[in-house]
Amino acid sequence: MAATAISKAPPERFKGLSESLSEIQERVRQASSPSSNPTLVAVSKYKPASDILACYECGQRDFGENYVNELEEKARQLPGDIRWHFIGTLQSNKSKTLAMIPNVFTVQTVTSTKAANALNKSLPPERTTPLNVMLQVNTSGEDAKSGLPAIASAESASSSELVQLAHCIITSCPKLYLHGLMTIGSLKESTASDEQPNEDFETLKRTRDFLEQVLRQDPTSGSNWGVDGKLLLSMGMSSDFEVALKGGSDIVRVGTGIFGARPPKEHTDSERDVT
Ligand SMILES: *Cc1c(COP(=O)(O)O)cnc(C)c1O
Repeated sequence: MAATAISKAPPERFKGLSESLSEIQERVRQASSPSSNPTLVAVSKYKPASDILACYECGQRDFGENYVNELEEKARQLPGDIRWHFIGTLQSNKSKTLAMIPNVFTVQTVTSTKAANALNKSLPPERTTPLNVMLQVNTSGEDAKSGLPAIASAESASSSELVQLAHCIITSCPKLYLHGLMTIGSLKESTASDEQPNEDFETLKRTRDFLEQVLRQDPTSGSNWGVDGKLLLSMGMSSDFEVALKGGSDIVRVGTGIFGARPPKEHTDSERDVT
């Protein structure tokens, strides 16, 4: 199905986007080890479809959105080979709408078996590839951030909610594929530009290692998760993606750095899927 015609970004805007996208791509390359090939997700929430199309024309294919309705509308208008990443808070009552979007590639914010089962059940029969899912971890422990608790030790791993959710996805959600873990982490202004490792990113890595250990030892989990036997890590945003990449991130999510500042939330509240 052809995408509906959408207006093009004005030439000035196209040029600006193309430059900031190249700059971020270059910084991603510089911060990554030569053997790795991390994914840059361009976070386009609140930004018009014309901005996304401009980045698409520059070769960008991975885009991230936070609100199901906004994603649905954009996906309908934009090219079908975009890989959409859902990175917002997932409500079970929106799972069906999300699952019906043909080119939603990854849902990065799964935190419950209820949401996992709802997605698995809602994926349409015509979809031929599994939906990638990542489990969101609240590495900073802040009440305001969603996500499951990190795993603190090998002993506590097997009874953790994360392991239970991973197990449920692997063994009882055949249309989902467990890709890895995602975190937001707390923004530490002082470390934004220096080379200090971010504690929250270290916590996500440790949690990933514990989870992998449990999955490897569990015969019912098989090897049907991750990429080449490794769970991927989605961590790093505009202010900290270089630190995240140096810490081993596989997926960085950059919004402001590519598209510029977003309008204040109050103006768009009516479109949000907030709880
Ligand atoms: C908005 C958002 C981003 C992008 O943030 P920037 O600081 O604009 O790069 C990344 N991840 C999540 C989960 C977000 O909600």
